[in-house]
Amino acid sequence: MNITKLKDILKKEPPYRLKQVEKIIFQDLINDWSQAKVLPVGLREELNKKCPLKIDFQASVSKDEKTVKALIILEDGLKIETVLMRHQPRDKTSTPRDKDCRNTVCVSSQAGCPLGCSFCATGKSGFKRNLKASEIVEQILFFARLLKKDSSKVTNVVFMGMGEPFLNYDNVLGAIKVLNNKDGFNLGARHFSISTVGIPEGIKKLSGEKLQINLAISLHASKDELRSKIMPINKKYSIKEVLTVVEEYIKKTKRRVMIEYVMIDGVNDSDECAKDLARLLKKLLYFVNLISYNPTGAFRASSRERIKKFKEILEKSGITVTERYRFGSGIKAACGQLIAREKQYGN
Ligand code: SAH
Ligand code: SF4
Repeated sequence: MNITKLKDILKKEPPYRLKQVEKIIFQDLINDWSQAKVLPVGLREELNKKCPLKIDFQASVSKDEKTVKALIILEDGLKIETVLMRHQPRDKTSTPRDKDCRNTVCVSSQAGCPLGCSFCATGKSGFKRNLKASEIVEQILFFARLLKKDSSKVTNVVFMGMGEPFLNYDNVLGAIKVLNNKDGFNLGARHFSISTVGIPEGIKKLSGEKLQINLAISLHASKDELRSKIMPINKKYSIKEVLTVVEEYIKKTKRRVMIEYVMIDGVNDSDECAKDLARLLKKLLYFVNLISYNPTGAFRASSRERIKKFKEILEKSGITVTERYRFGSGIKAACGQLIAREKQYGN
């Protein structure tokens, strides 16, 4: 969907058309303008020709139906990946397709990623280009249409797919604003989370936005030497530099910040690493999310016992800890496994 073309076409239409079209795209969730019966036939035809709603994709569903991965093919032929994760409420016996599930879409902000973290498949695949706001929106629309068939909705959007969101700040925020629009998709700002390696400029800008978007920082190490080894961007922005900006963000916004820490066997999961991390994070509104490492070739995941011990050390220091397991690893749809190559399919 090309928003610029869409706006151009609507310029010659009466002003109420824009609202009508927003409702058609974001609430009715149609994939062909000919279904938009409220619009005049001529306009429907023009829109279908110049601004089609169809999304080119290939999708795979995990055996337990909890994860769906879609490869979306963009106008220029580039392919990006996006993932739907369906969380069932713990206390219920519902299936992943029931209405009361939380449906989180993990979106890509770039095709590839220029930052090259050594544990991440996207990082190893290189960088193609930034995504346009409409290409980000499309990833969510794709799953919203799919969920509509089960009378379900997208409830959360996390920027944890391919790419570094703060290297594409304007388009990421642009997409969030489109999806947040009350007359359109109407997804509340608190339902969006941005995960970043900690680009200071992006964090500062986000603290000035009126929207209450969640922020997550990929730390993954408590000492610069190790972090620089696994995340080259640390040579540019040290741990101290990143956390100083995050602390300013917390003071300004009074919002909690998630610290992401992927547990890699023998690399960053020792007791000493946990103690160092606890010292770093003591003061402010932080909570730590320990992520199970999804093997991408280079490393092994920490054992359950190691993660448990690491968690205990943090908790003893008064830090709240949550855990994220391997969602979708069976279809290579888990964090860090997105590399958008067709040959991945059928694995
Ligand atoms: N570029 C951003 C957002 C995309 S990555 C960032 O790095 O934060 C989303 C999360 O997945 C990050 O915390 C990232 O470090 C993590 N990740 C990358 N590769 C992973 C892997 N193989 N297993 C588990 N998590 C991984
Ligand atoms: Fe890029 Fe994030 Fe992967 Fe690092 S972890 S290479 S920043 S997508």
